[in-house]
Amino acid sequence: MKNYKLLTPGPLTTSRTVKEEMLFDHCTWDEDYKKITQKIRKELLKLAQVSEDTYTTVLMQGSGTFGVESVLSSVVGSQDRLLIVANGAYGKRMSYMAEHAGIDYVMYEEADNRIPNADKVAQLLQKDPGITHVSMVHSETTSGLLNDIEAVAKVVKAAGKDFIVDAMSSFGGVTIPVETLDIDFIISSANKCIQGVPGFSFIICKKQKLMESQGKARSLSLDLYDQWKTMEIDGKWRFTSPTHVVLAFAKALEELEMEGSIAARSKRYYENNRLLIREMKQFGITPYIDEAHQGPIITTFLYPENHRFTFQEMYDFIKERGYAIYPGKVTDADTFRIGNIGEIYREDIEKLVDIFREFFQK
Ligand SMILES: *Cc1c(COP(=O)(O)O)cnc(C)c1O
Repeated sequence: MKNYKLLTPGPLTTSRTVKEEMLFDHCTWDEDYKKITQKIRKELLKLAQVSEDTYTTVLMQGSGTFGVESVLSSVVGSQDRLLIVANGAYGKRMSYMAEHAGIDYVMYEEADNRIPNADKVAQLLQKDPGITHVSMVHSETTSGLLNDIEAVAKVVKAAGKDFIVDAMSSFGGVTIPVETLDIDFIISSANKCIQGVPGFSFIICKKQKLMESQGKARSLSLDLYDQWKTMEIDGKWRFTSPTHVVLAFAKALEELEMEGSIAARSKRYYENNRLLIREMKQFGITPYIDEAHQGPIITTFLYPENHRFTFQEMYDFIKERGYAIYPGKVTDADTFRIGNIGEIYREDIEKLVDIFREFFQK
């Protein structure tokens, strides 16, 4: 099969060296392996800019959704109420999780191209004192919009509520000072900006809040507290761990450090993203999100006026030339998406633009 690079928001294109780590079938109970898990957990705390005394990391099998569901179904107790702030599919997905787990919740929804307003969140919290937790997505991958978690964190904390952030597609690619923002639970996964392969998610959380959640989980396998309790002993996972994924992730963390950590990676993503947006204008293709809220991870593009091609035709043409792009997901406009996270560099963006030029000339 012909290879191509992924311009999708995860899984993404990983380095050869990250993939090569998976050639080893590692034993799970052995000391070396448990040490790798512990090193990963420690390293993630550093990336989140949190102290080891206050925060801890839990690794959870499954994709990112499993991580978010683990947090919501484990920490929002039967006497609690959750406010879900949503402006896209991933925010909405949290409400489906709440439904399934029987969590008492209320929603504050904004359109896919608008950021939730912190004052509005403050008002909702004031009006409904029964709310105990607030959850929201940082980088809404549906649209590519970057939400203002800083402003929302301020009002959530001022009201004394717990703040849960889905930073799936931003953690590692955007600087997030988790302790400064006083975030209680923040979730991401192996196959996004850390540039590993899919197989587990990770949760960085306040130890105190995690401890308080003991016994509240509605699911056995997604019990966040139990997962932590087992892992905390010596790094052994509670159930079979995705060994190959863990080895690849450890390597990906090293490579993130070599690149210059989050600051350097963030700069690369941002520059490539803005270059792509500038270049696409020549084809009459503009972003769905306003520049001020456009994040550096993925861009939703509106089709040019009076276009006479289908997404599939465009996708096939580009794939044939070495890149895979992504269909649109927002509900109120006809769009397609291009991600720029992973092992993607300036030359890839330039090549992609040339491919688009060729496509439009045809
Ligand atoms: C990728 C992603 C998820 C998790 O999706 P999975 O398909 O379970 O990996 C959750 N939230 C956001 C914002 C994401 O980008």
